[in-house]
Amino acid sequence: MVEFEQILREKGYRLTNQRRVIVRELEGERHLSAEEIYDRVKGEHPELGLSTVYRTLDLLHELEIVRKEDFGEGYSRYELSTERMHHHARCRECGDVIEFNEELMEYLALQVERETGFVTDWHEITLHGLCRRCSGSQAATG
Ligand SMILES: [Zn+2]
Ligand SMILES: [Zn+2]
Repeated sequence: MVEFEQILREKGYRLTNQRRVIVRELEGERHLSAEEIYDRVKGEHPELGLSTVYRTLDLLHELEIVRKEDFGEGYSRYELSTERMHHHARCRECGDVIEFNEELMEYLALQVERETGFVTDWHEITLHGLCRRCSGSQAATG
């Protein structure tokens, strides 16, 4: 939290209560959408409207405090940029998000560079399919 306060301050922003509340939710759980954050905090913080949550997330994203992720759901999910870089596999049945580490993708990017000369400086991959539980239950019970 201190770290985020510093980033905000360096850019001329204060760590307001609403910013603190949202960062804290994301410290507790990754891959939350704006609506999910809103649902979690509205009980304790009725002053925080959904549009404020969106605005705050936009600002935190602009300041690179959060990463914005698109899992093909038509809206974004967020996680703190201090989380170790990783990629996602999302189950289309239950929506579970599985994380897998960076090395496989680094390897892929290197292969692409070797073959095409394209230098990747940023990549974000989401795999789509079925998680173990969903693919298993379909196979077992139909
Ligand atoms: Zn993640
Ligand atoms: Zn699943």
